[in-house]
Amino acid sequence: MNLPDMLRKWGVNVVEFPGWQTRGWLSGYGGAWNPRGVVCHHTANGGYRGIDAPSLNVCVNGRPDLAGPLCQIVLGYSGTAYVIAALGANHAGKGGWANLSGNASVWGIEAENTGLGEAWPAVQVDAFHRCCAALGELSGFGPEMVCGHKEWTPTKIDPAGLDMNQFRSAVAALLDNGPNQEDEMNAEQEAILRDIQGWVKGNIAQAVGAGNGKVPLYAIAADTNVWVKVKPTTGTVDTAAVAAALVESLGDSLAAEVADELGKRLAGE
Ligand SMILES: [Zn+2]
Repeated sequence: MNLPDMLRKWGVNVVEFPGWQTRGWLSGYGGAWNPRGVVCHHTANGGYRGIDAPSLNVCVNGRPDLAGPLCQIVLGYSGTAYVIAALGANHAGKGGWANLSGNASVWGIEAENTGLGEAWPAVQVDAFHRCCAALGELSGFGPEMVCGHKEWTPTKIDPAGLDMNQFRSAVAALLDNGPNQEDEMNAEQEAILRDIQGWVKGNIAQAVGAGNGKVPLYAIAADTNVWVKVKPTTGTVDTAAVAAALVESLGDSLAAEVADELGKRLAGE
């Protein structure tokens, strides 16, 4: 899987910047390109001016004193990942982390932030974590290989305002639970889900009971939420066990529906 596809798998919105596939160095800056970790940066831009990624141009083309690309991913304020390079980039410089050193050994993410106390949007921080989880899966490393530039070298302060121990914990949680984990439900969502599950359980128990081993039984299909005919059953049916198993199997899809419905309501649709 390539870098943009892996990011998308981890729930990140991606813009593929033209030429990303061949931008960067196959060798140099510490050997052959072989990333085994990631260094997190802030861009130290001039502040949000209605542009999602004001540092995109400089990260692609570099500065007079530093050849581009300056990272592989520019992370916009919106949490959109602009993939600009697939190969080695100029970002980490001198220093090291977990026995890694040199730009050839690490991915670089430049997240848009002034570094002067500008608030980090939650959506951007979440995407920052997801990008690191994606890079971990892509290159086969764990959360312990994620560091801040300020940890790579004491001469840097980026990413300012982000606690890297908390950051690594968030990446670890993602890698443990996978890319498709739902956000935890709030109390209102849980109450709605319990209502729905109670209704499902009651109705399924009724239907199964009515079957009584002779009449074809009906249940709700887990994927479609429509009533479907199930194989006629003979003998004693443990209605409570069947209902419990069905409710269990419906848990995730119902939770997703509840979250979706709540989202619509909150958006005023
Ligand atoms: Zn940096």
